[in-house]
Amino acid sequence: MNRTKRMLLENIAWATESAQSDPAFFDGLALGQSPKALWIGCSDSRVPAEIVTNCSPGDLFVHRNIANLFSSTDDNVMSVLEYAVQVLKVQDIIVCGHYGCGGVKAALLPIPSNLPHVARRISPLCALADAHSGELDQCVSGDEQVNRLAELNVMAQVRAIRATSIVRKAAHSPSVHGWIFGLHDGRIKDLMPGELHARHHEAGHRVVSVREYLHTAETMAG
Ligand SMILES: [Zn+2]
Repeated sequence: MNRTKRMLLENIAWATESAQSDPAFFDGLALGQSPKALWIGCSDSRVPAEIVTNCSPGDLFVHRNIANLFSSTDDNVMSVLEYAVQVLKVQDIIVCGHYGCGGVKAALLPIPSNLPHVARRISPLCALADAHSGELDQCVSGDEQVNRLAELNVMAQVRAIRATSIVRKAAHSPSVHGWIFGLHDGRIKDLMPGELHARHHEAGHRVVSVREYLHTAETMAG
């Protein structure tokens, strides 16, 4: 049996099992969506947003591209952000990169002339690598360089999203989080917690230290 035929058969099995375990499941999906989070991740087949976070259909609004890049000049990702914040009113925006990212690795290698679209897409990563060349040169291996640049990339995308007028001017400004996924163990590392950003907003752009934030969180928790 070829691959696509098998996928269609698997779909029938999934739909049947889903309806059996929850008879109202598809009625709920058909009514509309109200995802609480926007996921901006890499297109890499090994990092499927719903599976690695144990989410279900309806839980995540998802945008994926090579190396989880965000650009305010990219109408594709901007339209997703605009709809997620202004219409769906998501509470959290997650940029999730991953270690061993091929798109990030490509930015550290000679530009591939046979992949002009990829080369253009990853050009901001080349600039990011140049800006951090001193730190990247300290890495003990090529893999470590790729992984550190993947982290720096996630943080750069989070800062860019936080700086958009869509996020800054939202009635209920969503928290923007920076995560990175480990292919070797399936664990996600929280590089940039979104709560700090939310506190920053509530404090009227007063910079809140990590110690102050943790103290506030402990107080709120009782
Ligand atoms: Zn990737």
